[in-house]
This record gives sequence, C-alpha cells and structure tokens, in this order.
Amino acid sequence: MLDLATRDIKYISGVGPQRAAVLNKELGIYSLRDLIYYFPYKYVDRSRVYLIREIDGNMPYIQLKGTILGFETTGEGRRRRLTAHFSDGTGVVDLVWFQGIKYILEKYKLREEYIVFGKPTVFNGRINVAHPDIDKADELKLSTVGLQPYYSTTEKMKRSFLNSHAIEKMMTAVIQLIREPLPETLSPKLLAEHHLMPLTEALRNVHFPATSDSLRRARYRLKFEELFYIQLNILRYAKDRQRRYRGYVFGKVGTLFNTFYTRNLPFQLTGAQKRVLKEIRSDVGSGRQMNRLLQGDVGSGKTLVALMSMLLALDNGYQACMMAPTEILANQHYETIKELLFGMDIRVELLTGSVKGKKREAILSGLLTGDVRILIGTHAVIEDTVHFSSLGFVVIDEQHRFGVAQRARLWSKNERPPHVLVMTATPIPRTLAMTLYGDLDVSVIDELPPGRKPVQTIHQFDSHRESLYRSVRKQIAEGRQVYIVYPLIKESEKIDLKNLEEGYQHIVEEFPDCKVCKVHGKMKPAEKDEQMQLFVSGEAQIMVATTVIEVGVNVPNASVMIIENAERFGLSQLHQLRGRVGRGADQSYCILVTNYKLTEDTRKRIEIMVRTNDGFEIAEADLKLRGPGDLEGTQQSGVAFDLKIADIARDGQLLQYVRGVAEEIVNGDPEERNPENEILWKQLKALRKTNVNWAAIS
Ligand code: ADP
Ligand code: MG
Repeated sequence: MLDLATRDIKYISGVGPQRAAVLNKELGIYSLRDLIYYFPYKYVDRSRVYLIREIDGNMPYIQLKGTILGFETTGEGRRRRLTAHFSDGTGVVDLVWFQGIKYILEKYKLREEYIVFGKPTVFNGRINVAHPDIDKADELKLSTVGLQPYYSTTEKMKRSFLNSHAIEKMMTAVIQLIREPLPETLSPKLLAEHHLMPLTEALRNVHFPATSDSLRRARYRLKFEELFYIQLNILRYAKDRQRRYRGYVFGKVGTLFNTFYTRNLPFQLTGAQKRVLKEIRSDVGSGRQMNRLLQGDVGSGKTLVALMSMLLALDNGYQACMMAPTEILANQHYETIKELLFGMDIRVELLTGSVKGKKREAILSGLLTGDVRILIGTHAVIEDTVHFSSLGFVVIDEQHRFGVAQRARLWSKNERPPHVLVMTATPIPRTLAMTLYGDLDVSVIDELPPGRKPVQTIHQFDSHRESLYRSVRKQIAEGRQVYIVYPLIKESEKIDLKNLEEGYQHIVEEFPDCKVCKVHGKMKPAEKDEQMQLFVSGEAQIMVATTVIEVGVNVPNASVMIIENAERFGLSQLHQLRGRVGRGADQSYCILVTNYKLTEDTRKRIEIMVRTNDGFEIAEADLKLRGPGDLEGTQQSGVAFDLKIADIARDGQLLQYVRGVAEEIVNGDPEERNPENEILWKQLKALRKTNVNWAAIS
C-alpha cells in the first residue's frame, strides 16, 4: 500500500532536490503526507468567463478568454516591464509582467486563444492584470474549471518558482498516486454518527473540490478530526492524571475560614465570588486533585477568593503558598493578606530573591516545621532549597508568566501534588482556554464588587494635547494620580527609551508643580522599586512608564491612564493597562492617544476599547483580529498553535462539539480497550510522536 509518510517529495515530478530543500525549509514539508496536509487557504471560482467590457478595477480574481494583439516592453533595468494587449472583441486589457519577461515572450504567441486569470486593477485609466495565470484555451481541462485551490507561499518559494500554481501541480501528481483509499484515521462509528466524509475523499476534495458542497464536507471532516484529536489528547491526559494522583481531601470548613468570614471580611462577597468559592470547595473535598483556572477582570476580587481558599487548606492541616510574577506584586499580596488576616494567629511569610541570610533561613526552617502556614513569593518559592512540611494548596497569580514546566515543578515539592489555583486577569476566550488548558477546569468571576464606576475610555488624537493636559491638571488638583504609558517594542528599544525620556522631560515641563516619577524595563530593580514606591505612597502625582506597570500594581488613588501611541498596543494589553485605574470609588478615565493616520485594524481596536469594559468581549475580539498564534499567553504557555485547517476564532462551535465527543470516548473507554476505538488510540499515539507540542502537555 502507498505510504505517503515515507515518500520524499523530491521524487515528485517537477520537484527535485533543490525545490525540495526550499519546501523543507520554508514549510516543513518533507513527505508526500506533509504536502497533502498543506491545505489551500482559498478557492476561486473558475467556472465563469467574463467579457472584458463587463469588468472593472474593483472585481476580485476573474477569467477572460481571448488573444494577445501585441507585446510592448517599456522602461530600463529594474523598471523594465512587459505589457501584452489582450482582447476578446469586447474590449482590451493590459497584461503586465515585471519579471520573467524573456520567458513570457517565448512562451505566448499572438493569435493563439488563451484563458487568462488574475486580479484586474485600474492604472492610468486602463485595466491591468499583473502576472496573470495563462493557459491555452483548448488545454484547460474541464476538471480545473470550477473551484481552483490557492496555496500560500513565501518570497523564497516564489524565487524558486514555487508559486501557488506549482504547488497545485504537485498536488495533482500526489492525488493521482492515490489509487486505493488511504488508511482511515477516524473510527467507522465516528464517521457514521457524525456523517463525516471518508479521509481519502476528504483529502481529494479539499484540494480539488468536485462541487462547493463536497468542499464544505471535506473541510468539515478535516477540521473535525484536527480538533477532535487535540481534545482527545488533553482529556485523556487529564483523566490519566486524575487516576494517578489522589488529591488531598479538605473535608471541613474550620475555625480560620469561619473567623475570617464572620469577623475579618470587610465587605460582602459578590455573587460571583461566592459561586467560585463553592466550586473550589467542592473540588478540594472530592479527593480529586484540583487544577483550576480562575479568570476575572482586574479588580474583580480574585485575591480574596484565593485567600479564603488558602484558609480552607490551613483549616485541614495543610500549608498554602501563593506565587506572583514580580517582586512588587508579591510584596503587594503579602501586605494585603497580612492586613486582611489582622488579629488572626497565622504566620505568613514573604519569600523573594531579595530575602537573604538569617531571614531566609528562618523562613525555610519555619516551612519545614509547619510553623509558616502561608508563604507568599516569586519564582523563589519553587527553588530546590524550599521545602514544605505539608503543602496542600498553591495559588499562581497571573499565570502567563509561568510556563507549564514551572507548574509541574510545584509537584515535586510533595509526594502528592497540591491543589492548584491559577489566577489570570487576561481572560482567555472559552474556546482557546479549552484548547490550551483543556486539563484545567475554569471558573469565572464575571461581576465587579459594588460601587465601582466603570472606567470611561476616550480616544484622542495627539494634536489635542492642550485639552488633555487641562483635564489632567483638574484631576491632580482634586488629589488624584495619573499614569502616562509609552509603548515598548523590543526591536527598537533605543527609540522607545528616547520616546520615554522625551515624554518625561515634556511632562516635567508641562507640570512644574507636580512630582513626576519614571519607570522602565531597563532600570535596575532597586531603582524601579524606588520610583514605584514614590507613586504608591502618593508622593508623586504622575508616573511616566513603559508597560512594566502592566501587571498588578494597585494604586486606588490613580484615576487617569493615558496611553501614548495607543496604536502600538494590542487589545488585551490596552485592557490590562486600563485595569490599573478604576480601583477606587472615583470616576476614572483611560485616554488612548493616537495620531491621525490609523489602519483599519487599529481603528477597530480603539472602537472596541471605547465601547466596552468587558474583558471577555475584548479577548474574543482580539482573537478574531489577531488570530490565536499571537494572543498573549499562548506563546509563553508552551503550547504553540499549529492548526492546519481549523480556526479557533471561527470554529468555536465545532470545538465545543468535538470536545463533547472526545469526552464521551475518554469516559466510556477509560482502559482504552474497546475495539471500536482502536483506530483512535492508535492515531493519537502516532500524532503524539510527531507533534512535539502535544508531548509537552504531559
Ligand atoms: P483582582 O486580584 O481580581 O484584580 P483584588 O482581589 O485585588 O482584585 O480586588 C480589588 C479590590 O477590590 C481590593 O481592594 C479588594 O479588597 C476589593 N474587593 C474584593 N472583593 C470585594 C467585595 N466583594 N466587595 C467590595 N470590595 C471588594
Ligand atoms: Mg490581582
């Protein structure tokens, strides 16, 4: 039988070693299998031939049938171009080439009938088609008249004449090699139950659709399969872990929790906080090891939920630990939690890189004796020298900075893994969370504590600085504080720093009566802390900064967030920054400053920001605008995306559906012995071998 996976593409006619090397390097295509799983990104209807008098410059790709009346070359050197005047009797268009002129002149003849295919544009009042596809009219086979596949290519590929057309030709050759059906990769039961097209038929039709309906069915089948195996992989892993590790059982709600709830809690819990606490309580009481992702906008009160969950652990005789991504944040959590626990006899310690010597030793030995009951810190808490006597509960704040590998390291601190609560203020759209963190359960705090005024967001062009500064002065006069943020893009760090410096000087001059502090990524930690402290204490009224303030800092008195060059920030970044204000009872403002010229995408981003404060809506919009590959968090999380046909943003419903299907299979066949599913388990194993990212999940 033909095994596509072991056949090298260089043996396909028209490929050869040199083009094969380009395909290896540019697209990671080595075998015929790799090639056949390289799917078209669009299809163009070639069933209709237009008349020249019908067309204009606004049409998409079109087809014309006619003859070349004459050739003309103009320009010299790199400006040289070839024009062919092409007519079908109803009008004339110019076909234009900037490269390969000699080849074109040799290949195409006058008075021969051709089918020309390309995108018409208007140039100097004439209709042009640049670098069209040309076939002899009598040679264009019926099978290619219909939906024609288009493949993405890179510049390097084009230089080796590997354009979409060339790939299409290779694909034709491969498809012709397939004489009998390839081994099926989904079980007969799944195919029948979900009305899926068989694999071989789907592969044929995805490249060369017989009809638009068969294309739709082919794509559906292939997307189904792609998403299904991702889900099967994650769910099987989660199930396996559940079986292997018993979780600590926190059977009771004890005195610490109750004392805190009745005596220390300074306000009523919101409905959402109560619901999430219930979800956590039922997890930690079940004997299962909890892995829960807690999502909630900045200021929604996640810290409190975390603290109360930690108290549950303490009540049941375990220690708890909370990790933050930066020292400043760890400090802030430490202060907050000490304050909330005021009057209760609980030893809480802070462990960061700067805790050294005797103090550090005291904490480490306190952890071993069990005397230290809550440890708060940075990455320092997962160092090998840190040992607990009975760690039962771990909170990870802002998990994007912690990779999957680091999460796993926590487990080695115990013979049994503690319960893990991961908190994030960058909401991840549900569809993405399912794919990325399918092994985590998800809780959502979708309600802000009462009395908060939503931040008002305003878009302002940078030419209106005067009125902007007037409002800022007014806020400062009322005792408020102001952030001014400049973008930071790694590639141009020098320029960014210059922008920040200039901005800072400018602000100092504009606001001579104010103290202005300044924070950026290139500062030494001590210096940064010092500047930060000026703002936290209220001594400085204005903070000029790059995005270092993005994560976590809590200054309730700050009521204005000005974001300079807002066009250079992503949506979720803008949302994070905006979350720095609106933490107190006063009306807060977020001002997005841009210049006049905005791209379509930027305009949309700004519109969304002005329209809504809902983090989930913003995350969904971000996913649609940018695609999941770029989404913050997906890169760092260690699970990169490599979807060949499905689209997380568009195929959310299908994803939900196949998750259900995969769940049924994992639950119904935990031992993986049911012959009905044999194909599935075999295929999953094969995929895990070839897909590095999948292996990383476990
Ligand atoms: P997050 O970590 O989700 O950004 P925090 O836990 O830091 O939010 O809470 C933000 C602020 O809201 C804190 O000052 C906290 O004390 C307060 N807060 C939390 N829960 C409530 C509540 N139910 N009612 C009133 N204020 C609350
Ligand atoms: Mg927080």
